[in-house]
Amino acid sequence: MDFAFDARTEELRAKLLAFMDEYVYPAEQVAHEQRERAASPWETVPVVEELKAEARRQGLWNLFLPDGGYGAGLTNLQYAPLAEIMGRSPQLAPTVTNCAAPDTGNMEVLAQFGDAAQKKQWLEPLLAGEIRSAFAMTEPEVASSDATNITTRIERDGDEYVITGRKWYISGAMHPDCAIFIVMGKTDPDGADLRRQQSMVLVPRNTPGVTIKRAMQVFGYEDHYHGGHAEVIFDQARVPVSNLIGEEGGGFAIAQARLGPGRIHHCMRLIGMAERAIELMCRRAVSRSAFGKALAQQGVVQNWIADARVAVEQVRLLVLKTAWMMDTVGNRGAHTEIQAIKIATPRTVVGILDRAIQLYGAGGVSQDFPLAELYAGARTLMLADGPDEVHQRSLARRELKKYL
Ligand SMILES: Cc1cc2nc3c(=O)[nH]c(=O)nc-3n(C[C@H](O)[C@H](O)[C@H](O)COP(=O)(O)OP(=O)(O)OC[C@H]3O[C@@H](n4cnc5c(N)ncnc54)[C@H](O)[C@@H]3O)c2cc1C
Repeated sequence: MDFAFDARTEELRAKLLAFMDEYVYPAEQVAHEQRERAASPWETVPVVEELKAEARRQGLWNLFLPDGGYGAGLTNLQYAPLAEIMGRSPQLAPTVTNCAAPDTGNMEVLAQFGDAAQKKQWLEPLLAGEIRSAFAMTEPEVASSDATNITTRIERDGDEYVITGRKWYISGAMHPDCAIFIVMGKTDPDGADLRRQQSMVLVPRNTPGVTIKRAMQVFGYEDHYHGGHAEVIFDQARVPVSNLIGEEGGGFAIAQARLGPGRIHHCMRLIGMAERAIELMCRRAVSRSAFGKALAQQGVVQNWIADARVAVEQVRLLVLKTAWMMDTVGNRGAHTEIQAIKIATPRTVVGILDRAIQLYGAGGVSQDFPLAELYAGARTLMLADGPDEVHQRSLARRELKKYL
């Protein structure tokens, strides 16, 4: 295994680091102020559009997409350190480089499983950053970590599919530019094979019968930059049968394919969040004193910082190994590692952020520093894209199988 950065990665890293320093970090406060003055909290603020144009001009655009025909054509190992850098400013950097979830996963699905017409209509404007998208699987009424529970119906009626169901926590759906949903539902709810009952269809947001009911919160945050997380009702929404992605019964398999890269991207960005937390911890520790000495001189603070450094190095190595395996043996072959990082990274980073918040005192839970919002975001990743326990169960089963 060789995790050394190659020449292309080094070049992109240098460019991205400079872009972060020159444009992204200074824009954090500007974006916040612009949002406070905006007519609607969901409106795209001008600084985001300016940064998008600059990122695109600099070639820092669609870096996530391994398909060179559509995106940058980077391997997972090449993309990992770049996603980590973006994760240091998770609200802005992924968005302005067109590397934000859920659009990334949706573009991957369309690039991999979409037909020519679907690519033309939806993938091309997504790649250009002209529209946004959402992925609608989770339902409030059923335990959605088990996708076989999904109840949304996709019924064929002549040349159309009729979609009926209720979804929630649909990321991106509050964004005014969100034009298209990839909806997971059942075309064959009584089918013998539980994993062939589901299909995926493209549902334009303006389809009659589609209602964005409300914005769901995350510990009170609404995640405006990512287009929030909506509850969405599909009440007999009709789309042409040509909106099916892949084949009927193929929804489960597409969902699995979508989640592999998505999970590693989340982990890469989480490591960037942890690096930001360590930096903030150190800055605070050297600049504030209590009981006659700098916080940095307290043994307990030194332990927090040392433990954080060790933990970040550990998960980064595991994430790089996973990226390397995905590149060399494929996503299926790297299944155990993908699950391992999805379990290890959020909990490690949540722990680091928790101690960083402690070090900042009341400031840590305030809106004046990014720690509270970073914590909220990291904590959700112990649930989203599969709760920890589901990954633990599946990983343990594979491990135990060797002894049965
Ligand atoms: C911020 C955020 C954004 C999201 N974005 C999207 C999105 O864009 N699109 C979308 O479709 N969904 C999205 N989700 C939903 C997310 O994917 C689901 O919450 C997740 O899959 C879990 O489903 P659930 O909430 O129904 O929990 P449930 O399935 O009800 O599970 C609840 C708990 O039960 C336990 N549990 C479940 N199964 C097992 C098991 N096998 N063994 C042991 N314990 C178990 C776990 O502790 C789990 O947390 C998002 C969620 C959040 C918080």
